[in-house]
Amino acid sequence: MDCIFCKIARGEIPAKKVWEDENVVAFHDLEPHAPVHLLVIPRRHVVNVGGAEATDVELLGQVVLGCRQAAEAAGVAESGFRVVFNTNQDAGQTVPHLHAHVLGGRALTWPPG
Ligand code: AMP
Ligand code: ZN
Repeated sequence: MDCIFCKIARGEIPAKKVWEDENVVAFHDLEPHAPVHLLVIPRRHVVNVGGAEATDVELLGQVVLGCRQAAEAAGVAESGFRVVFNTNQDAGQTVPHLHAHVLGGRALTWPPG
């Protein structure tokens, strides 16, 4: 499958990884919107939260816990961070492989635009 995040998970294209385990990879976003802007992906291809099935519950939990690991690795676990799953066009999803944005390192505004 020609999926850029599958290729990052397999190590076929480079990424600045901050944390990984057998199920999840966390790396720096190419176009950061905060001092810390990481992406956390499952190694297995799932399109987005809308495409997740009951059989993906474990994978979804692994991604959320991966966000905590990534935030700790980037030094924002205590100061705070935001986790965002953009899903489909109105949310601005551009890469159709489930990913969590982990944003931190400054006071984030609310609500998001
Ligand atoms: P979204 O718009 O929610 O689908 O988020 C996709 C994110 O992936 C964007 O913030 C992009 O900057 C980021 N991105 C795309 N390609 C790469 C890449 N090769 N390495 C790191 N981040 C990427
Ligand atoms: Zn993929």
